[in-house]
Amino acid sequence: MAKIISGKQIAEKIIETELVPRVEILKKSGIVPKLVVVLVGEHPASASYVKQKEKFAEKAGIHSEIRRFSDEISEAEILGEIAKINADPKIHGVIVQLPVPEKISVPKILRAIDPRKDVDGFTPENIGKLFLGEPCLECCTPKGIIRMIEESGEVLEGKKVVVVGRSNIVGKPVAALALNRNATVTICHSRTKNLNDEIKTADILIVAVGRPNFVHGDQIKSGCVVIDVGIHRTDDGKLCGDVDFESAEKVAAKISPVPGGVGPMTVVSLIGNTVEAAEN
Ligand code: NDP
Repeated sequence: MAKIISGKQIAEKIIETELVPRVEILKKSGIVPKLVVVLVGEHPASASYVKQKEKFAEKAGIHSEIRRFSDEISEAEILGEIAKINADPKIHGVIVQLPVPEKISVPKILRAIDPRKDVDGFTPENIGKLFLGEPCLECCTPKGIIRMIEESGEVLEGKKVVVVGRSNIVGKPVAALALNRNATVTICHSRTKNLNDEIKTADILIVAVGRPNFVHGDQIKSGCVVIDVGIHRTDDGKLCGDVDFESAEKVAAKISPVPGGVGPMTVVSLIGNTVEAAEN
């Protein structure tokens, strides 16, 4: 049976042993890191993600503020809000909770955020630096994934890493971070031929396809490390990932669960980025 990589436990450890002490130091010089979350419209999933972010912020001792706007708000008004936030020296980090209404251009919104306050790590400047291997505010889910792999005792150097999914917020950046750590990386997507053959080669398999229970135990190599990024609510109200946990845990050496895996690592990375932005 695979060892469980508990993102929840690792995230709690990071808050207690790293973030709280760093926040204390900032507070001594009169700085309290502050995160602003811009929330447009009503989305039950977004509401629960935002609540989690508030909870983690409180545990780390930083300020968080939710700025709520109705679906009616225009793109120009949102851009105006971001400009105000960019100019406010008391705010160190800002994120726009996605999704936003279709009439609002996500690339336009992201480009409006000051890269120094871009704690989601989504602006072209931070993404570009991440690919160059330069210091930056790294996108939260990929940063959290790499951290949980390393915390589980795995070394990425020389390993065969297979990433299933090539989104701009998970697949591509996590592949770049693994490559920066000298892993040999394959990125798979919907046009990949013989996906099963690729998956079978993985020492470390990162699955971010957005399809419930997509990868099963019989597809993975014995002793593989499996990171499940997906999150889905099933018809009976339970949460599941992109990996069929029951079959995969019998074959893998280590596996991250859903819930309690990548989710908390994403949030702790966001809070860590806010602290880093305040330090900068
Ligand atoms: P996207 O939908 O943006 O990307 C999915 C990727 O999977 C695409 O690259 C797509 O390929 C690929 N894909 C889809 N179907 C197949 C297939 N049959 N075979 C091979 N590849 C396929 O998803 P995200 O990256 O945004 O998210 C992935 C999952 O992770 C979702 O469940 C999401 O909810 C979850 N998530 C969880 C987070 C957390 O903190 N826990 C954070 C972010 C996401 P193509 O490019 O060719 O279309």
